[in-house]
Amino acid sequence: MSKYRKMSRPLGDKISIADGELTVPDQPVIPFIEGDGIGPDIWTAARRVLDAAVELAYGRAKRIQWFEIFAGEKAFHQYGEYLPDDTLTAIRDCSVAIKGPLTTPIGGGFRSLNVTLRQELDLYACIRPVRHFPGVPSPMLHPEKVDIVIFRENTEDVYAGIEWPAFSPGAKQMMDFLKQTFDISLRSDSGIGIKPMSATGSKRLVRRAIQYAIDERLPSVTLVHKGNILKYTEGAFRDWGYAVAQQEFEDDTIAEREVDAQVGAGKIIIKDRIADAMFQQLLLRPEDYSVLAMPNLNGDYFSDAAAAQVGGLGMAPGANIGDEAAVFEATHGSAPRYAGQDKVNPSSLILSGVMMLRHIGWRAAADLIVKGIEKSIVAGTVTYDLARQMQGAKLVKCSEFANEIVRHMKLMFPENRHAHS
Ligand code: NAD
Repeated sequence: MSKYRKMSRPLGDKISIADGELTVPDQPVIPFIEGDGIGPDIWTAARRVLDAAVELAYGRAKRIQWFEIFAGEKAFHQYGEYLPDDTLTAIRDCSVAIKGPLTTPIGGGFRSLNVTLRQELDLYACIRPVRHFPGVPSPMLHPEKVDIVIFRENTEDVYAGIEWPAFSPGAKQMMDFLKQTFDISLRSDSGIGIKPMSATGSKRLVRRAIQYAIDERLPSVTLVHKGNILKYTEGAFRDWGYAVAQQEFEDDTIAEREVDAQVGAGKIIIKDRIADAMFQQLLLRPEDYSVLAMPNLNGDYFSDAAAAQVGGLGMAPGANIGDEAAVFEATHGSAPRYAGQDKVNPSSLILSGVMMLRHIGWRAAADLIVKGIEKSIVAGTVTYDLARQMQGAKLVKCSEFANEIVRHMKLMFPENRHAHS
C-alpha cells in the first residue's frame, strides 16, 4: 500500500541517510514545495538554474527527479489543510527537500507553517551562510570581508513557546509556584516565558557546526552566547559547546585560550564571544570569523543583521537540517504584493539550491551556479531590488535573471565539456 494519501513518488531512487552519512543516487528524487505568493515565480527560476547547472556539470550522468509536494495555500486547495501528512511523509522518505516561502495562514491554528515543519521533522539546525556578492549594494565599506556561516539552534530557548500572558490563570499559577517553592516574588502583572536549553539540544547543534568546519576546511567555530548574565542556559551552551569539541573532535580542534604560536597550527580554533560583543565584531573584524554556533534567539537577530551587512535578505539562503531530513529554503517570506509579477529576486532560493547541491555532494554544479550569479550581478543585469540601488544597472525580470545565470554558466562551458564531482 502506498505511504501517500493523494500522491505517488516519481520513478527514481531515494537519497538515504545511515549514521549521519548520505547515500545519493545519480537520479535522486527530491521533493519541492513551490510556496505561496512569489513562490511560483522564484521556484520556476530556481529549478531552471539548478537543472541547467547539473546538466552542464555532469551531462547525462546525473539528474534530479523533482517531486512536487504541497504546503500552504496550494495544499489547502488540494487537501483542505495547510500541511498535509503526505508532505511530511515525502520529506522523511526522501531525506532532502527544497521549499519556497509560505504565507502564514491567519486563524489556521498555526504559529507558522515553517515552525511546524521544523518541529515535526526535528530540523534542529538552521544554517545561514552570509557572504557578499561583488556589485551588490551594501552599507559597509568592505562587505567582502563577511564570509560566515551561522548555525542557529532551532528547537529550544525562548522559542519553545512555553509562555503565559499577564493576568492569565497560567501566569498566576506559575507565580504561586515560584513564591511557594523558591520564595521568589514577581510583579503581579507579569507575563511569563520559559527559556529551556538542554545539553542534548546544544551539543547536537555545535557538533554539526564543527563537522561543517571540518568538511569545508574552515578555520574557526565561535560559540555566541550571553553566558555572562544567563549562566545556566547560555553559559551552559558555551560550556557544552567546548565539551563537544574536546570530547568528540579532540584531534581536529583547539580552544582559543590554548592556542600559541606552535600549538594549534592547522586545527580548527574554538572561540566564544558574548552576543553583544559579537555584533560589534561582525562590524569591526568580520574577517576573524567563519562558522558561528548560537542559541535560537541570538541566531534570529544575528542572521538578519549579518544578511543586511552584505545586501539584504533577497540574497540570503538557508537550510533547516536534522538527523533524518534537510529542508533548504529561501529566507524571505512570500511577499504577496509581488506575486505573479515575475519581478522579484530569485537568488535566495537559487542559493538555497546551491546549499542543497553541496549537501548531496554535487559540488561542481553548485560552484557553477555561484559563478553564474556572480557574473550576472557584476554585468549589472539584476532584478528591481538591486537595480534601484545600483548605478547603470539593467533591470531584468525574475525569469530573465535566471536566464542570465544560465547564459553565463554556458559561457563557462564553451564546448559543453563535463566536469566531475
Ligand atoms: P516578506 O519577506 O515576504 O516581504 C517583505 C518585503 O521584502 C517585500 O515586500 C519585498 O519588498 C521584499 N522581498 C522579499 N523577498 C524578496 C525577493 N525575493 N526579491 C526582492 N524583494 C523581496 O515578509 P512579510 O511581508 O513580512 O511576510 C509575508 C508572508 O510570508 C507572511 O505570511 C509571513 O508569515 C511569511 N513568511 C514566510 C517565511 C518562510 O516561508 N520562510 C519567512 C518570512 C515570512
